[in-house]
Amino acid sequence: MFITYIQCMNSADVVILGGGLAGLVAGIHLLKSGATVCLIEKDSYPRHRVCGEYLSNEVKPYLNFLGVDLQNTHVPELSRLEFSTAKGNLLECTLELGGLGISRYTLDHLFFQQFLKAGGKFMHTTAENCNFQNDEFLVNCKNGHSLKANFVIGAYGKRSNLDKNLDRGFINKRSAWIAVKAHYDHQRFPDDLVALHNFNGGYCGLSKTDLGTVNVCYLATYESFQKHGKIKDFEHKVLSENPYLNDFFRNSTLEFEKPLSIAQISFDSKTQVEDHILMIGDAAGLVHPLSGNGMAMAIRSAKLVSEALLKFELNPGYRTNIASTYIKSWKQNFSSRMRTGRILQKVLLHERMSDITQGILQRVPGLLPKIIKKTHGKEMHV
Ligand SMILES: Cc1cc2nc3c(=O)[nH]c(=O)nc-3n(C[C@H](O)[C@H](O)[C@H](O)COP(=O)(O)OP(=O)(O)OC[C@H]3O[C@@H](n4cnc5c(N)ncnc54)[C@H](O)[C@@H]3O)c2cc1C
Repeated sequence: MFITYIQCMNSADVVILGGGLAGLVAGIHLLKSGATVCLIEKDSYPRHRVCGEYLSNEVKPYLNFLGVDLQNTHVPELSRLEFSTAKGNLLECTLELGGLGISRYTLDHLFFQQFLKAGGKFMHTTAENCNFQNDEFLVNCKNGHSLKANFVIGAYGKRSNLDKNLDRGFINKRSAWIAVKAHYDHQRFPDDLVALHNFNGGYCGLSKTDLGTVNVCYLATYESFQKHGKIKDFEHKVLSENPYLNDFFRNSTLEFEKPLSIAQISFDSKTQVEDHILMIGDAAGLVHPLSGNGMAMAIRSAKLVSEALLKFELNPGYRTNIASTYIKSWKQNFSSRMRTGRILQKVLLHERMSDITQGILQRVPGLLPKIIKKTHGKEMHV
């Protein structure tokens, strides 16, 4: 189903900027409590996105509450992790909590359908700016529409034109990271496996998806990538030095016309409230993808912001209390995970440290599951 444009109302209790996972989840949660919600998204559904597509099982109970049903999709259950260093030393462990191999093509679309079913209003356009004046917001859109709202949720992802308008600290700094993703056909790739293979200057995650394809997604430093310039050359000359990646690329066929890529990925700290806008998902802070948990965090932050708004009955008179309640719960839930992600990324991208760490993990078998646990949260119940 391709939805291109649905008329949004001129005002709402809550306007949500961005309809990725975080924005759609916050929308559904708030609609279930009777709020009026208008969501603005610049892209259409369904569409592929750059993502590792490993969704932690911690979100499962909350998906039931939201009414998002995965029963009719063939979602692989991911329960094993394989990790190799750039030289190809391999370590394996089972994933205690595990996750689902679900494409963003399917997942975002399911959430979008549920958002519409719950009565959400949708506008397919770019939000150009958002101004807070006289205790209310005015959002101006590229299609010429303006919307008034008591509350605005910023769910517009890692980097957006809106960050520039808000003059957020990270937006003017150049970031050293790029990411590439594509789906491949590979006959022998196991259904239950998440493979994480290091290469010089980055790491690559592979896992099966509901579409029957293998999702391949890697993060690399711009410095290592620019030496080769083209994705194909980079994969051939750098990624394929890892024997596991070499074997994969030799025995698989690209299912996309060409891989998707994004640049300027910033892992700098962000603020969770900016000019009264409540930020969720990647707009509130991007965890290192190595932790495999950004989607679950985006979903959980949407739950936290909805709970903070509903605790004070969406009353603008309690704006400050809502903001401080949300910031507090965000920090309680995510500060430690963000830290662990940062440390992991530093260690594993350093060739020598990565080898040493792997040696230690091999000698102490219970250590890797413990580290993985630190990057994940408890099951989400309402
Ligand atoms: C390389 C890589 C691999 C990853 N792998 C995993 C993984 O395996 N598992 C995991 O859990 N997480 C992973 N993540 C993290 C995960 O993808 C994100 O944390 C998650 O997508 C965040 O969701 P979001 O809703 O905040 O942002 P997004 O999903 O990016 O959604 C933001 C939306 O806002 C829209 N938008 C932006 N600006 C505007 C505007 N001005 N007006 C209207 N719309 C706008 C965009 O079009 C987009 O649809 C990975 C991230 C990277 C970079």
